[in-house]
Amino acid sequence: KRRNPHQPEFVQAVQEVAEDIFDFIADKEEYHEQQILRRIAEPDRVVSFRVCWEDDSGCIRVQRGWRVQNNNAIGPYKGGLRFHPNVSESVLKFLAFEQTFKNALTGLPMGGGKGGANFNPKGKSVREIMRFCQSFMTELYRHIGADVDVPAGDIGVGAREIGYMFGQYKRITNHFTGVLTGKGLEYGGSLIRPEATGYGAVYFMAEMLANRGHDLQGKTAVISGSGNVATHAAEKIVHLGGKPVTLSDSGGFIHDPDGLTLEKIEWVKQHKTHRRGRISEYADEFKGSTFHEGKTPWNVSCDVALPCATQNELDGEDARALVANGCIALSEGANMPCNLEAVHVFKDARIMFAPGKAANAGGVAVSGLEMSQNSSRRSWTEGELQQMLKDIMSGIHTRCLTYGERGGGYVDYVRGANIAGFKKVADAMLAFGVV
Ligand code: NDP
Repeated sequence: KRRNPHQPEFVQAVQEVAEDIFDFIADKEEYHEQQILRRIAEPDRVVSFRVCWEDDSGCIRVQRGWRVQNNNAIGPYKGGLRFHPNVSESVLKFLAFEQTFKNALTGLPMGGGKGGANFNPKGKSVREIMRFCQSFMTELYRHIGADVDVPAGDIGVGAREIGYMFGQYKRITNHFTGVLTGKGLEYGGSLIRPEATGYGAVYFMAEMLANRGHDLQGKTAVISGSGNVATHAAEKIVHLGGKPVTLSDSGGFIHDPDGLTLEKIEWVKQHKTHRRGRISEYADEFKGSTFHEGKTPWNVSCDVALPCATQNELDGEDARALVANGCIALSEGANMPCNLEAVHVFKDARIMFAPGKAANAGGVAVSGLEMSQNSSRRSWTEGELQQMLKDIMSGIHTRCLTYGERGGGYVDYVRGANIAGFKKVADAMLAFGVV
């Protein structure tokens, strides 16, 4: 806290990991001697820059942009870009730190980074968004590269924004390389990238359930968010025989006791992404459903839960409500959606709890596959990629078991993910000697 004043999100993320790592390295001299955890918790560099853009009325606006390059011990920095008014250095440092462990867990050669700007895309015209993205890349381009740092999308940055930024990168450098992932299929993108995070979070949930002799058939799922991760998580729940009953956005949540079908989910995707609408309108469109303004869905009774909106959206009280209402498993689609108290409630109740760094790694894993396809100038089929995604999620689950099994069939996935991710990065750092 003293080293990072006014950075609560970053301190929270490091604290959560440190709890497990201190225990693991207690008898391992070399990790102490070389201060490995402290080194991973100090980003290699944080670049902060000004982003100027012109709005439609001709006014010049000034925003702040960042790229946090946390650690490249096992591969080029890799992690998304977030455009949201609450983006700060603390939020991006926490995300880049988490990303380092997550990327290691995928088994692919990727380091950890994250970036973004305190730009609010809501209410902006397409032209304004384009100008902002171009201006952002006019500075960012000098810090990234296919073998250096490969950004992707995150909240507020989807395929459209990646397209504008890739276009600007190419314009400035004259290089057509895999410098960004999440690209359109016409210019080097990968199939199933949009689906990968949400699908992956559900595959991970299915792995946890299978480990305890359960499956998703007939299970009621409570999901938050209505963006990329949430809608694809809902879709995969339906594919595997489950029933998603909620979605949300920053205005509140909708409850559909009949369950969201694939058609209803498609409506939400079109509504939120293409029409830029609000989730409240779902209740006007589909009879029997209700909208709950300003509320989160954690009081709705369910078997499984998938928080897929944003950090710290589920606190201790929410966690107690979920446990009391019969939830047996939770998979974090978003990054750090459950605060520390909530995580402890789930651990104490011994419910299956998958932290984001394991559960939502499917997106970055397919981004890693996009990098491979770009550098070898080939593309895999949808079927091949679906299988690779499943195998990667299953591999992450197995890695979590290695360090997370606590006896009596209980698996502490937080500990498993923290230690497995840490060990891979730490061992590479040890191999490089003291820097
Ligand atoms: P989107 O921008 O597509 O969707 C975000 C959703 O979360 C929207 O429904 C948004 O509602 C809601 N939301 C945002 N902020 C808040 C808030 N403060 N309170 C309540 N709801 C909020 O983002 P993604 O689906 O891509 O990302 C969601 C989460 O998943 C993030 O934590 C992200 O870091 C994580 N993630 C995403 C990956 C990906 O591949 N996309 C990969 C790994 C993790 P509204 O429309 O009102 O803003």
